[in-house]
Amino acid sequence: VLTMDLVSKRFGSETVVENVSLEVKRGELLTFLGPSGCGKTTTLRMIAGLEEPSEGVITLGGEPVADGDRFVSPERRDAGIVFQNFALFPHLTVRENIAFGLDGDDAAIEARVDELLDLVDMPEHGEKKPEQLSGGQKQRVALARSLAPEPEVLLLDEPFSNLDVRLRVEMREEVRRILKEAGVTAVSVTHDQEEALSISDRVAVMHDGRLEQIGRPEEVFERPESKFVASFLGRAS
Ligand code: ATP
Repeated sequence: VLTMDLVSKRFGSETVVENVSLEVKRGELLTFLGPSGCGKTTTLRMIAGLEEPSEGVITLGGEPVADGDRFVSPERRDAGIVFQNFALFPHLTVRENIAFGLDGDDAAIEARVDELLDLVDMPEHGEKKPEQLSGGQKQRVALARSLAPEPEVLLLDEPFSNLDVRLRVEMREEVRRILKEAGVTAVSVTHDQEEALSISDRVAVMHDGRLEQIGRPEEVFERPESKFVASFLGRAS
């Protein structure tokens, strides 16, 4: 679905992502985990097409989207993005927000919006404006809007950072349920170990621009392959 092969990114003389290679499988949720400045956001932005790799190849749906010759712009990539602040259109209703990127006849769009409102468990909130919603509800609408065009991959940038602590744990489970029910392939970014370990199918731990370890949460937690991974996950001996 998504591959990265020896992808690096330099800003001036600083290498912020170095030789990252991985494959994201269909339907899985992979989380880039690491401390501030490790390069995880830059990696997500390269997948989205918001940054161009300095080296390496990224493919999406089997097609190269960045390989040195070709660079496919964000709006032409089959990737949905959920931004930290959810970026809903304030003047549009929930229904209109979700329908925003959809083409087709009105009846088909309305049917798709109904389906998505059910998926995110908000069937009775379609006519509200974003300002009338709670933080968790805004996140549900943002997810529904990004899922609407059925992207090849959904990208989530620190998805829980704008929610208060109480909602965070509840929404982790909800977001995982929604992604699994939608059957979408997803890549997220966080600095929160507990969040990454609890929601992801696999975790990719980054440090200083490099991929330190990638594996299922229990593998990475129980068998850290480097001192960095052990100490970052609180397993330093
Ligand atoms: P955070 O969680 O704080 O966002 P991060 O792990 O996501 O951290 P990045 O945002 O990917 O890290 O940044 C990695 C490094 O790249 C940082 O040192 C940052 O200063 C640098 N960087 C990011 N974007 C740019 C840019 N446009 N120009 C120059 N340097 C940049």
